[in-house]
Amino acid sequence: MRQKIVAGNWKMNKNLEEAKQLIKGIKKEVKNSETEARVIIAPSFVNLNTAIKRTRKSKVEVSAQNMHQASSGAFTGEVSANMLTNLGVNIVILGHSERREYFNETNDLLAKKVDAALENELEVIFCFGEQLEERKSGNHFKVVETQLKEGLFHLGKESFSKIVLAYEPVWAIGTGETASPEQAQEMHAFIREIMEKTYGAEVANDVSILYGGSVKPGNAKEIFSKPDVDGGLIGGASLKPEDFVAIVNAI
Ligand code: PEP
Repeated sequence: MRQKIVAGNWKMNKNLEEAKQLIKGIKKEVKNSETEARVIIAPSFVNLNTAIKRTRKSKVEVSAQNMHQASSGAFTGEVSANMLTNLGVNIVILGHSERREYFNETNDLLAKKVDAALENELEVIFCFGEQLEERKSGNHFKVVETQLKEGLFHLGKESFSKIVLAYEPVWAIGTGETASPEQAQEMHAFIREIMEKTYGAEVANDVSILYGGSVKPGNAKEIFSKPDVDGGLIGGASLKPEDFVAIVNAI
């Protein structure tokens, strides 16, 4: 079943005390909200344990922002899928453009990370999207198709019950420049079309496709009103409870 989802990617923000305050604020706002959407927060690794404990009796779910593809071993500074599930984390964001750009994560590497996540029964929020130059040169559809093919299309159709797609045009992330609702819908419809060609109508209809890139309380409603946009992956605006939950309520 296709789900409405709003996920907040906190990136490298909030120390422990700040994270506790933000979780408290989000829980309070979500409690007062009548939303049927899934509400997910993705704090840094060091705050995951606290987030899991403090959201236990709420509808807020907790995701990690990344993980390593190996199950264990000599990978100093890294975190495995099993470490996440053992902590009670059931979701992981993979392929965020900042991971692709600053940490050289390629589609091939991401395919391995996706496999490791699924083997450990983690749900994956899989991010992809084109650079500004790629859009300007009219290559954005091709780029997105390649990211999906190389990162995900080795999977069998049954895996897609554990995959959420997040289209995030790189030029709209943290820039204040949002894709227009029409641009978002155009790309989301294209993604659903490729999904249908590859996996059939049922998988294509059931997969949730989130939009990410400078979503704010003021523009969320219009973007979420588009038929193929099932919610959002939110960066900057997820760091303030009122803004984040205003976006949740815009669904
Ligand atoms: C993101 O980092 O996934 C994101 C969408 O950021 P922002 O909302 O700040 O553009």
